[in-house]
Amino acid sequence: VWNNCLAFINDNIQPQAFKTWFEPIKPIKLADNALSIQVPSKFFYEWLEEHYVKLLKVALTKELGETAKLVYIIRMENTYGNREPFTEKIPSSNRGNMGPQEMDVPVKSKNPQLRNPFVIPGIRNIKIESQLNPNYNFDNFLEGDSNRLARSAGMAVANKPGGTSFNPLLIFGGVGLGKTHLAHAIGVEIKDKYPERTVLYISAEKFTQQYIESVKKNTRNDFIHFYQLIDVLIIDDVQFLSGKSGTQDVFFHIFNHLHQNGKQVILTSDKAPVDMQDIEQRLLSRFKWGLSAELQTPDYETRISILKNKLYRDGVEMPDEIIEHVAKHIKSNIRELEGAIISLIAQSSFNKKEVTLDLAQQIVEKFVKNTKREVSIDYIQKVVSDYFEMDVATLQSKTRKRHIVQARQLAMFFAKKFTKASLASIGSQIGKRDHATVLHACKTVDNLAETDKQFRKYIEDLTKKLS
Ligand code: ADP
Ligand code: MG
Repeated sequence: VWNNCLAFINDNIQPQAFKTWFEPIKPIKLADNALSIQVPSKFFYEWLEEHYVKLLKVALTKELGETAKLVYIIRMENTYGNREPFTEKIPSSNRGNMGPQEMDVPVKSKNPQLRNPFVIPGIRNIKIESQLNPNYNFDNFLEGDSNRLARSAGMAVANKPGGTSFNPLLIFGGVGLGKTHLAHAIGVEIKDKYPERTVLYISAEKFTQQYIESVKKNTRNDFIHFYQLIDVLIIDDVQFLSGKSGTQDVFFHIFNHLHQNGKQVILTSDKAPVDMQDIEQRLLSRFKWGLSAELQTPDYETRISILKNKLYRDGVEMPDEIIEHVAKHIKSNIRELEGAIISLIAQSSFNKKEVTLDLAQQIVEKFVKNTKREVSIDYIQKVVSDYFEMDVATLQSKTRKRHIVQARQLAMFFAKKFTKASLASIGSQIGKRDHATVLHACKTVDNLAETDKQFRKYIEDLTKKLS
């Protein structure tokens, strides 16, 4: 088909023009009466559209009839859609490898003005792969007290993307508590309800890599324009942007553009905005415009239902006492909860053994040991109280007695230092204080450490005990 078109075109234009504008085109495929051709650049495409669209139309209609369509595939280094299938981790060789970008441009479309070479005409026709993982959806995101707020906020956003006050929606919480799952679920639901909207899921890390690449290649404007085309932008793990002022800057511009145009932004982070470090103030204040919803550690009931659901989906039966044993001992990370049950299933089928409580205990023990790397806030409170010869209740009490206040502040300081918990979460666990109190405690300890020799000794002793 393409060769016939070329022959016709060749007969109708100057040889030099043919050589310049038609020889470099590669026919890619013909499907549904649409011919896809690959052109070397966006500029090339624009030139074709501006000067040769009629000729192309005639040539194609001769071959394929009135319903013929032409799809341009632009091969160029400065597109940001990523067409590799969804993978959790992208091997480094693929990083920054930005695939071709497809644009459906009906032959009959009249060409818009091309004053700004960066603006792609027929923008609505750009296909951007959403990078969503359909296995992470609302159906298998089980509800519990620990995630109810975040889950229902996510649902609300999915029902009316850009149309709620939850913009941006920031989902935060510790490792393995379902941030990525929920972020995908929102995107998947939106795609389902509004197939015509452009949704893009991307990790903050990959976003950063793309940005750096665009600076290197002098295509920063293209990078920004690409992101401004998106209706629903989901950025996972924004804490990764800490200290990366260039990326924060560009994200700030993209965010403002999207927000002003009623587009939805969904972010996840391992920390609450108040606890984020090295993120520009103006960006933090944007994060607070919408809703920050926390994913907390799941309670026992939720852990049980997550396990049962997982087993049910895998078609595996397991005695309740074993499920309960796993749920009782693995508390702070859903990924590990699932990991333990998966390795139980694997072990039992591998050894053709019944899953016994004994086996469950062994496996759980391994998981718990592996995760002991981080001391818990409970443990810190215990160690600090013991050291000052008081009980934990006293340490947590409302009293303002100096030595108790100091012990409490030290516990907060070490919780901040040795755990990944947010200031808010530390505060709530150490006598129901707010994040500002914890922040104040950490500063006080820092100051005293510099000025007070006795106090420095406390810190040294306790550090030894805790590490
Ligand atoms: P995060 O991004 O917060 O580190 P993930 O979203 O990767 O955590 O979740 C870890 C694992 O736990 C995933 O396999 C996810 O499907 C599962 N998970 C998390 N929350 C839930 C939930 N509420 N119901 C079912 N599975 C969950
Ligand atoms: Mg994640």
